[in-house]
Amino acid sequence: MIKTEWQHIEAHLPAWLEESRQAARRGKVADYIPELAHAPADALGCTLIDTNGNTTNAGDCGLTFTMQSISKVFTLLLALMDRGEERVFNHVGMEPSGDDYNSMLKLELVEPGKPFNPLINAGAIAVTALIKGDSTDEQFVRIRDFFRMIAGDSSIDCNYDVYASEHRTAHRNRSLAYFLKDNDVLADEIAVEDVLDVYFRQCAIEVNCEQLARMGMVLANGGYDLVTGQSLIPYRYVQIAKTFMVTCGMYNASGEFAIQAGIPAKSGVSGGIIALVPGRYGIGVIGPALNSKGNSTAGIDLLRKLSVQYNWSIF
Ligand code: GLN
Repeated sequence: MIKTEWQHIEAHLPAWLEESRQAARRGKVADYIPELAHAPADALGCTLIDTNGNTTNAGDCGLTFTMQSISKVFTLLLALMDRGEERVFNHVGMEPSGDDYNSMLKLELVEPGKPFNPLINAGAIAVTALIKGDSTDEQFVRIRDFFRMIAGDSSIDCNYDVYASEHRTAHRNRSLAYFLKDNDVLADEIAVEDVLDVYFRQCAIEVNCEQLARMGMVLANGGYDLVTGQSLIPYRYVQIAKTFMVTCGMYNASGEFAIQAGIPAKSGVSGGIIALVPGRYGIGVIGPALNSKGNSTAGIDLLRKLSVQYNWSIF
């Protein structure tokens, strides 16, 4: 009997994952947020969900981890829904920076203060400042509830140990945010420490591979959740988010990932990666050991293998 692609994936995912796990040895767990350093370096987990909600898991998919930079994709979507395209892109650009995610370099070089894109730290902080809400608590609750809705899981919440750990040690993000403030990218009424507080909480939202895959599946479906039959995000905004994932989602290794795997993806320093195959799958991966660009070594290895095997590249 000829197997469908899904049956083939279900049969082979565990073995491929074990092969990719070897790549974790080339990486290192992030420790600049001290609480992240406890993650198991050789872990690798993966969940795929198809657009009907069929789910397949492999490896350490029971691990929970904080979204970190993966959150930036979804906060951008909420900011677009709150404020519209024009307002959002008055505050942040649309171009890859080619620099590290926390770099200050180009902030002063081109259009002073305007971050290159919403997926580097400076851009994400500017976007978080646009989320509606009368207080930082209200802004965070709106972000969290939006993430819960996309993931179809009302238990998702912030890991306050990771939040506190980043809050204590985020000297560079603080300096980026004060630079934005100095250049009026953050409005007069916005206090720098308030934006950072919401940003750190958003980065510390904790998920597992399945919740991430479900969020990816909604994007793969153009904002429509086939499982519940609800349209959750306008298609145009999903298109914007997916484009940023391709051009900037893997930091300054986005070009290499586009050539090797060719699917929209976004990584975080916890080692998580969200990826999607348009119209077909949402994918959640965790592999805490990172390469020098801040991407999961084993996670990238696995996504590349899957994409080549099934010819997933969108290019
Ligand atoms: N919270 C992290 C930071 O701002 C997110 C960075 C990341 O995942 N690349 O440094």
